[in-house]
Amino acid sequence: MGLNSRGLVELTVLLKKGEISPLDVAKDVVAAVEEKDGDVHAYVEFYKEDLLERAAALTKSGDYRSTPLAGLPIAVKDNICVEGRATTAGSRILSGYTSPYTATAAANVLRSGGIICGKTNLDEFAMGSSTENSAFGPSRNPWNLDYAPGGSSGGSAAAVAADMAVGALGSDTGGSIRQPAGFCGVVGMKPTYGRVSRYGLIAFASSLDQIGPFARSVEDCAVLLGAISSGDAQDATSLRAPVPDFARDLDKGLDGLTVGIPRDFMEMGTRPEVEENLTTLCARLEKENVAVVDVSLAHARYACACYYVIANAEASSNLARFDGVRYGHRTEHARDVYSMYTHTRDEGFGDEVKRRILLGTYVLSAGYYDAYYLKAQKVRSLIIRDFQNAFDHVDLIMMPTAPSAAFPIGEKVSDPLLMYLSDIFTIPVNLAGLPAIAIPSGVAPDGLPLGVQLIGKPLEENTVLRGARGVERLVDFERKTVV
Ligand code: GLN
Repeated sequence: MGLNSRGLVELTVLLKKGEISPLDVAKDVVAAVEEKDGDVHAYVEFYKEDLLERAAALTKSGDYRSTPLAGLPIAVKDNICVEGRATTAGSRILSGYTSPYTATAAANVLRSGGIICGKTNLDEFAMGSSTENSAFGPSRNPWNLDYAPGGSSGGSAAAVAADMAVGALGSDTGGSIRQPAGFCGVVGMKPTYGRVSRYGLIAFASSLDQIGPFARSVEDCAVLLGAISSGDAQDATSLRAPVPDFARDLDKGLDGLTVGIPRDFMEMGTRPEVEENLTTLCARLEKENVAVVDVSLAHARYACACYYVIANAEASSNLARFDGVRYGHRTEHARDVYSMYTHTRDEGFGDEVKRRILLGTYVLSAGYYDAYYLKAQKVRSLIIRDFQNAFDHVDLIMMPTAPSAAFPIGEKVSDPLLMYLSDIFTIPVNLAGLPAIAIPSGVAPDGLPLGVQLIGKPLEENTVLRGARGVERLVDFERKTVV
């Protein structure tokens, strides 16, 4: 077994003892990528030479022993900027674009002693749930290569699941960390809105976007979250709250926690195997002295509709900057400045991105603003209030990560509404800005992993991580990736 398949914390312990070196780990990661990424396509670009060079330099200097990430290779979703590197956001429109600076979250990885080993594949501008919207072709699920790894951070999830990175960063606007983590049988966390700086993340929907970690275990996820969290003067929405030790409460156990299940909401299209998995887990939790109670999220059923108004409105505004003037692609068929804009955007954006820009522009336009955008904002307030009311009675809310396990590549890509519904359980959490984690909770009869999601109060990542660690211990989850 190569070092690449060991967990982040386990590796840092071995590294700090001097039993292994960063170069040993880097070599095993490189070997895994060379062996598997032709099939999985988790990476848009893998920085092989750079990884080996940096790992060799750290090995020689020994300057990794006192840092939290100790020279370990961390993959970064390709909508997060790294200075001097291409950032594509999975889009043709950014071809030729090189980032002039490093995103704060990525800079924090470096500051914490990690090595950024490459950029992972994603749905174009993070719009999608399967990575099939990437201009560079889909990533594949390491559990079954005919299946999607989820999305939009499918490349990051697949890289971690196939041992091609020790950890990874993704972004989650409506579920894009948690849903692929669930589909690939790894841990993925969306922190509280503002916990991690969005400076240098290519904006999709700014009131919802949040960067977060992927890892193989809850403990590894806690360490990576600690490494990337910080307030940031460059991001006005980043929180100045102190960053706690996220590993602090991990082993406090489940005893005494109250967990709420939003049964009214979960009736919406959940597959029987997903429901059964959750029921079994609830029974196990009760045996551990956890009070499992029903909570109501009465307005969450409108979350998906509300999200596709708000997210698209914000996207239509955020994506206006890609016009051929400053970034990436510029058409060769311009007659005047207007045709330069329109041809550039027509050539550069894929269908899903165009659909969202059109819808987003429509819901913001005079005469429709009140009926759609304003109304969606009001519904958002009701969803937030539902969570607040539920959290008066419970410490955590638990529900499936997605209504089904991973789906085959090609199954939903031509039916946007069906695709949108795969985020039904993750979207309400973004609308409310809450922290939530997805962890593996079992395997479906077709051999694909199932996931469960734990949601906490704002800034209570530690309770979320503590609960997740407890659940992780209760579930006998065995990884059965085919690559
Ligand atoms: N799948 C959702 C969408 O398509 C969420 C995407 C995301 O979280 N970036 O918008």
